[in-house]
Amino acid sequence: MSQPIDLLIEPRWLIPIEPHGVVLEGQAVAVSGGEIAAVLPAQEAQLRFRPARRVVLPGHVLIPGLVNLHTHAAMTLLRGIADDLALMDWLKTRIWPAETRHVSAAFVRDGTLLACAEMLRGGITCFNDMYFFPAAAAEAARNLGMRAALGIVVIEFPTAYASDADDYISKGLAMRDRLRGDPLLSFCMAPHAPYTVSDATLERVVTLAAQLDLPIHIHIHETRAEIEESLRLHGLRPLQRLHRLGVLGPGLIGVHAAHLEAEEIRLLAKFDCSIAHCPSSNMKLGSGIAPIVAMLEQGLRIGLGTDGAASNNRLDIFQEMRQSALLAKAVSGNAAAVGAHDVLRMATLNGAAALGLADKIGSIRTGKAADLCAVCLDTLETRPCYDPASHLVYVAGREHVSHVWVNGVLRVENGLLQGCDTSQLLDTVNLWQNKLIA
Ligand SMILES: [Zn+2]
Repeated sequence: MSQPIDLLIEPRWLIPIEPHGVVLEGQAVAVSGGEIAAVLPAQEAQLRFRPARRVVLPGHVLIPGLVNLHTHAAMTLLRGIADDLALMDWLKTRIWPAETRHVSAAFVRDGTLLACAEMLRGGITCFNDMYFFPAAAAEAARNLGMRAALGIVVIEFPTAYASDADDYISKGLAMRDRLRGDPLLSFCMAPHAPYTVSDATLERVVTLAAQLDLPIHIHIHETRAEIEESLRLHGLRPLQRLHRLGVLGPGLIGVHAAHLEAEEIRLLAKFDCSIAHCPSSNMKLGSGIAPIVAMLEQGLRIGLGTDGAASNNRLDIFQEMRQSALLAKAVSGNAAAVGAHDVLRMATLNGAAALGLADKIGSIRTGKAADLCAVCLDTLETRPCYDPASHLVYVAGREHVSHVWVNGVLRVENGLLQGCDTSQLLDTVNLWQNKLIA
């Protein structure tokens, strides 16, 4: 007797990420109750299972849903509002003033909805967010059925969201208490950056992260100016200061890390920290290029992030995969540095591990959540295809994503977002654009 299941997916190729570097052909993925029930030869699956739904994808590769390890989702409403400026100019003259005038719970909900719609269509099933009004971001993610790690954001200066560090922390903790039962949500302590958070606040963040077993999501060493300022004010490089305050550990997600000395890379590796590599944002703001080849040599865990749409200006992990591989080769002068399978792992399992979710997502294995992304390689611009892993990194774009499931629920079908009134969403975005122009 065949066993009833919710879904059987039969792609041409499957890249499970675990084991590393493997491309399987003719395999099927059985999904039941939101979980991967089995990965097995398609012919065997047809005998063994009676699926409520069968999805045959004869020209497609199936991979785990992509993990965006660093973003400010609501900032999609600021996409393209200020280009061609260095980080501090960009923040001080354009972004912070626009945020002061406009950011509210409604801004965050609507901006995050737009971000989730964009990310899901691009094969991203999980994002690590750092922004004000995280409960509003959670509402948007839940609305579209996307997995999210919400930042308990902390910064010293007042905003419409909170008045001081204590207020940020208590609001963030209350948000976590309210939402922690949701299987698609997880949480990080998210002190913005060493240059916007005091020693006393960072110490509190470390204590809370340890007590609540939460990762610490923080921008580090994004620019040379940040390092120079820290040397002036504290007599220490930012990373030395974080080390002294006890921030380094397996839960640390250091975002950018564009400027690291060899000794600092060894230190981060020794403490089993993770890096969120955001190559497009780093290039666009002229910040630098993170030394990921040296990081990988030290065994440092690297995931990929888009950063916010105000500094990228896309929430597109396909672009970040390609940029990561090409930049690593260009900078190291070694074409063998950072291969396609390495990049695919960064965009999936490494991001999941950084968030403490490696037992749940990031690879296609029995027992994990069915967060899956199918990419069609049967198009003019993706043929011929000798190696689907290579194509995912060097050829395909997010426009080739055909199907996306989160926790076994179909969120994108044939490129179309499910369960979202896109014309209503666009109307809302237009209203915000008019407000921001005024
Ligand atoms: Zn950022």
